[in-house]
Amino acid sequence: MEFPMKKRSITVVGAGIVGLWQALTLARAGYSVRLIEKSPEMFADAASSYAGAMLGPYCEREVYAPVVRDLGLKSIALWRDVFPGTAVAGTLVVAGARDRGDVEHFAAQTEGNQRVGADVIGRLEPSLNGRFEFGLFYAAEAHVAPRVAMRFLLEAFRAAGGEVVSGTNWAAAGASRADDLVIDCRGLGAKGELPDLRGVRGERLIVRSREIDLRRPVRFLHPRHPIYVVPWGDGVHMIGATVIESEEAGPVTVRSALELLSMTYALHPAFGEAEILEMGAGVRPSFSDNVPKIIARGKTIYVNGLYRHGFLMAPALAEMVAAYLDGGTIDNRVVASES
Ligand SMILES: Cc1cc2nc3c(=O)[nH]c(=O)nc-3n(C[C@H](O)[C@H](O)[C@H](O)COP(=O)(O)OP(=O)(O)OC[C@H]3O[C@@H](n4cnc5c(N)ncnc54)[C@H](O)[C@@H]3O)c2cc1C
Repeated sequence: MEFPMKKRSITVVGAGIVGLWQALTLARAGYSVRLIEKSPEMFADAASSYAGAMLGPYCEREVYAPVVRDLGLKSIALWRDVFPGTAVAGTLVVAGARDRGDVEHFAAQTEGNQRVGADVIGRLEPSLNGRFEFGLFYAAEAHVAPRVAMRFLLEAFRAAGGEVVSGTNWAAAGASRADDLVIDCRGLGAKGELPDLRGVRGERLIVRSREIDLRRPVRFLHPRHPIYVVPWGDGVHMIGATVIESEEAGPVTVRSALELLSMTYALHPAFGEAEILEMGAGVRPSFSDNVPKIIARGKTIYVNGLYRHGFLMAPALAEMVAAYLDGGTIDNRVVASES
């Protein structure tokens, strides 16, 4: 690849959260960018449409590599710069009285938290006042409403001079031969070319409550069925999510719905009166170590494997690709160069 690539034409394939951030970042950096999406209806086939979308770099450290925390923190700053709807209200972690051990374990595995008692929990989340004796608060974490954020990024890309082509299957049409470079953000659609890629099914529900109006994501720990609830405004909450080794999208199973709903009811019985607006499952594109990869192969750069962290990590990865095209390097914790 010749550096720098400035002012050359770039095709970004796939308008999920990864492709949207890539397209916008490169258009604003001065490239001529075309964004190609297979689905005629934008976002209809994207795993991103099913996300929370929590930006939880510390909480996710409980089970994932430090790179998730590091790039996640960077991404929160980028979200704040670009998207005015970014809510930095923190994350609250709670558990039932018998599950104090889970909270202790969670605290020991993560940073960026403070221990909170019933009084602080009640102040942070009036809807949960009196329900929990102890918990953890991660003040620096954030969240966005995914579809609102995706629409915003798409419009910002257009405003930056980007071209959007929907309803075009890039692989079949071979549409990019004339381009200097392709950034492939097809998520699971790139599985044929990235053999280590797999799908991890995530089921989630969206409800509207007249009584509960959370102010921030709440993670409810439980030895068997932990859940999280993300507020999207106006009493609308996303409840998630299962993590199942399967590439099937489609309807939520009865078992998963029972587990998610009974845990939501345990978080607060007033959720029992909430209306169910939507149930559905998305499939997270993931590599075997669940860490994203940037793979340079000829004139194509793949950005994929965002697993549970598409919203959390897409901005930092987009910035890294832009720096790479300017002759810079990629963090070796996410690079997988094959050329
Ligand atoms: C239930 C659930 C909850 C989640 N919660 C969170 C969360 O709270 N925070 C977080 O950070 N992440 C979360 N995630 C993870 C996040 O959704 C994924 O990491 C992210 O969606 C991956 O984005 P992507 O752009 O790589 O893939 P996708 O969103 O799947 O986008 C790929 C796009 O490429 C298009 N495409 C495919 N093939 C072609 C082709 N041949 N030509 C043109 N276009 C093509 C597809 O139609 C699609 O629009 C969650 C996921 C799920 C399922």
